[in-house]
Amino acid sequence: MTTPSKPAFVHESSYVDEEVSIGRDTQIWHFCHVLTGSKIGERCRIGQNVVIGPRAEVGNNVKVQNNVSIYEGVTLEDDVFCGPSMVFTNVTTPSCAFPRNTADQFAPTRVGRGASIGANATIVCGITIGQHALIGAGAVVTKDVPAHALVYGNPARQHGWACECGVRLQASDDAKSAFSCPDCNRLYRFSNSSLARVTDNAA
Ligand SMILES: [Zn+2]
Repeated sequence: MTTPSKPAFVHESSYVDEEVSIGRDTQIWHFCHVLTGSKIGERCRIGQNVVIGPRAEVGNNVKVQNNVSIYEGVTLEDDVFCGPSMVFTNVTTPSCAFPRNTADQFAPTRVGRGASIGANATIVCGITIGQHALIGAGAVVTKDVPAHALVYGNPARQHGWACECGVRLQASDDAKSAFSCPDCNRLYRFSNSSLARVTDNAA
């Protein structure tokens, strides 16, 4: 039996501007601001002191920890995790004397489905983070991240691969796969130079 879904919950200390859509079962906690034109999916958990928008897009089942700003130009696909105090930027060359703060000067950033971003990481704008990528705490991500890549450091470099379930993958001794997950036993292999689940051998 499934629990019936509920309308979104917004704590009384938070502001939601006009023309915002918030999906069912989403919770927005203390001291947040959702700016006009933003879309937030269903079953999201938005922590304390989070700014979303204007016109940002957040998918379903996204978790945003405390102190995160999701600016215009940022898109989070379903199941993305944003750790506490991680940072998105939206302009590559910020300047007060030569302001570049209009929407057409923002470089869009996309975070793929199921990706997780560790606490205090910085994602420079204009980047695409692949599905199920794992960004280590404190990483400074300055270029695109492939699907399932595990990256960390400043500048962030790839140090391995991550499972859909978030655990670091290990080299596999199975002939049909390159990597396996020590936690959930999912198997992966390279297909067109990107890592993909082996689906004909479900764990
Ligand atoms: Zn796994």
